[in-house]
Amino acid sequence: MSKETFDKLGAAAIASSVRAGDASPSDMVRASFERAREIGAGPDGLNIYLHSDEAASLEEAEAIKSRAGNAADAGVLAGVPVAIKDNIASLGLPTTCGSRILAGYVSPFEATAIARLRAQGALIVAKTNMDEFAMGSSTENSAYGPTRNPLDVRCVPGGSSGGSAAAVAAGIVPLALGSETGGSVRQPAAFCGVVGVKPTYGRVSRYGLVAFASSLDQIGVLGRTVDDAALGLETIAGYDKFDSTSSDEDVPIYRLSALGKSGSNARGPAAEAIRIGHSPIPPAPPPGATTLEGVVIGKPKEYFPDSLDASIRDLCEHSLDRFRSMGATIRDISLPRSPLAIPVYYILAPAEASSNLARFDGVRYGLRVDPGKGLKAMYEATRSQGFGPEVTRRVLLGTYVLSAGYYDAYYKKAQAVRTLIADDFRSVFTSGVNAIFTPTTPTPAFPVGAISDPYEMYLNDIFTVTANLAGVPAISVPIGRVRRLPVGGQIITAHFDEYTMFRLAYALEAALGTEAHQ
Ligand code: GLN
Repeated sequence: MSKETFDKLGAAAIASSVRAGDASPSDMVRASFERAREIGAGPDGLNIYLHSDEAASLEEAEAIKSRAGNAADAGVLAGVPVAIKDNIASLGLPTTCGSRILAGYVSPFEATAIARLRAQGALIVAKTNMDEFAMGSSTENSAYGPTRNPLDVRCVPGGSSGGSAAAVAAGIVPLALGSETGGSVRQPAAFCGVVGVKPTYGRVSRYGLVAFASSLDQIGVLGRTVDDAALGLETIAGYDKFDSTSSDEDVPIYRLSALGKSGSNARGPAAEAIRIGHSPIPPAPPPGATTLEGVVIGKPKEYFPDSLDASIRDLCEHSLDRFRSMGATIRDISLPRSPLAIPVYYILAPAEASSNLARFDGVRYGLRVDPGKGLKAMYEATRSQGFGPEVTRRVLLGTYVLSAGYYDAYYKKAQAVRTLIADDFRSVFTSGVNAIFTPTTPTPAFPVGAISDPYEMYLNDIFTVTANLAGVPAISVPIGRVRRLPVGGQIITAHFDEYTMFRLAYALEAALGTEAHQ
């Protein structure tokens, strides 16, 4: 088994052989842990996992096995090993958010997204390394040391869901959960050569996701293929009474592999009747077909600046050519306020974080450092020893922009510009454009330790953060390699139009074939 298992065998295929009784869930767990050992996923190697418990996972596998006899009960993810970013609350394994302040913390409840995976037979094998409290773009901000990119161990895997992306890229699991506030699933997916999807804000319950910036946070999915990412998202999406920001909009079937031959969407009304975003496009083609007649893809000029790495530009142009040859029309568009996204995000996200992180005070969770000089001294000592430098910087920044006198100048202005950024997307999607294509990142993965200036690090999010500010869904798919490192292309669609996003991602993946990984 080992690497072959999750390189060649996706989540859907594993589940169907487990349901058919041809594979055992325990073998899948063993293969996953064997692969982790083989590649050196531990703290002395790639440092991908923060917590795992092979014996407990094997016990869970036995429970799934007893369900597997009855195919209907076993679930769409029967026996599939899944890794979870360590800011998503799990029963059994700790939830530390990559922070010292939560060292050893075990949640008394489980996130809805994890519960939904388990209900479909998934086996949670590990919690993955991440930038502390999801603040970062390289997984170097973890209190437990950086994760390394399995494709080139000198490089970062991206962040903040770097451990999850690396786990999928290394063939340890076929599927992983990450979280996004400003690109943290798509950017590491691009750096590690895997698929990463951020759904529409509200598409997936945030119950159990440790809050960073609540108006932006969403759980996302990483997989080796578009089909696995679609399967993962389908499983966790949908209304949850424990999250008042979760949407009750129907979850369509995203997987082409699960659609009928006619391409009709089995779960909803006839596909013809489904409006894709704001402009109806033809129903999905049958699996394998790649016609995109009538689909309009926008190419925003702000995402192809003169300064863009020439090889990344070439790969994007090649992907656009592929879309064209499948019948899609490429239209030059503009999202004029996008260049303001970085300053806007880095005011709003820290502002919300400064409030959300106030709960880590040495009383309710994890670490307490008490010099014995009263409550205030205990708070100060706990927080200054518990939080790393980037989290401290964000809390200070956030507190500053929310303080009297600066609130209007910074926070309020950033909120207003956020609305304008979202308006830009709305006008594009109401003008007959079905999707937008951009590079996921301005450069491929960079070496560990190469970026020490925080502002330079923030610029990594330049193409991804806008989708979070606007709340729209976006996916990164591998489109080729530059200097042997993977590059991702990003497909963005209108709110709740994950269907079109997946459809185009499938088409691109099929059209590029092995080129995507060369
Ligand atoms: N890199 C961004 C940040 O540091 C985004 C993080 C995220 O999406 N969680 O805030």
